[in-house]
Amino acid sequence: TAAIGLRAVTKTYRSGTTALGPIDLEIGRGEFVSLLGPSGCGKSTALRIIAGLAAPSSGRVEVAAADGRATGEHPIGFVFQEPTLMPWASVRRNIALPLKLAHVASAEADRRVDEALARVDLAEFADAFPRELSGGMKMRASLARALVTRPEVLLMDEPFAALDEITRFRLNDDLLALWRDLQMTVVFVTHSVFESVYLSQRVVVMTPRPGRIAAAFEIDAPVA
Ligand code: ADP
Ligand code: ADP
Repeated sequence: TAAIGLRAVTKTYRSGTTALGPIDLEIGRGEFVSLLGPSGCGKSTALRIIAGLAAPSSGRVEVAAADGRATGEHPIGFVFQEPTLMPWASVRRNIALPLKLAHVASAEADRRVDEALARVDLAEFADAFPRELSGGMKMRASLARALVTRPEVLLMDEPFAALDEITRFRLNDDLLALWRDLQMTVVFVTHSVFESVYLSQRVVVMTPRPGRIAAAFEIDAPVA
């Protein structure tokens, strides 16, 4: 069944720029899909529309309702290229924020934060501040913050683009392991052909002016 459906979605910004469309895209539950294309082809716009952070100008967006969740909990996790951690708060408090906003009881929240910290191998850095972390560690903290609400859908907007290549390689493998363990739907925006092919089950190629889907390729088996 589909986790995400975009039907004839377009987006024209107030500036007059038509960033998207129309595009049609269906993403299955548990699928790992990359949106690949050059700068300005509308990848981020598409992702923000899926996340509900931007409204489409026309068309329909369907994100499958998550069931069995406490009210107020967000079924979507979002990871940006910039780690966007609060500099004045510890790693633990940064990761706990989405649970606080969702009014999750503190004992349960503590348990979930510990689980998220362990998942990204940051347990030892729970009480550190963001400035004490390397770039890769900041990214893992951002990932933990996105995972702490146990989202069914994880959206990532060029998350590793600012990191050195070795850190990036490691994070690719960490992300694949998380995806396999947690059985999430992942939509991964990148302009790296390598990353898209290495990570995803399907690569959706976009072209600019306006952003359209030019092609989509199934990758037979995810790299083990
Ligand atoms: P990508 O993520 O592929 O680089 P974007 O979705 O960021 O592409 O941008 C697609 C197009 O929309 C670009 O031409 C960009 O300049 C324009 N755009 C993006 N965000 C805005 C905005 N908030 N206001 C006006 N134009 C925007
Ligand atoms: P990453 O691959 O997560 O970016 P780095 O390669 O930058 O990590 O750092 C290598 C290792 O050095 C980290 O995994 C961590 O164990 C350790 N390290 C990095 N920053 C600190 C720090 N501020 N305090 C203690 N250890 C650190």
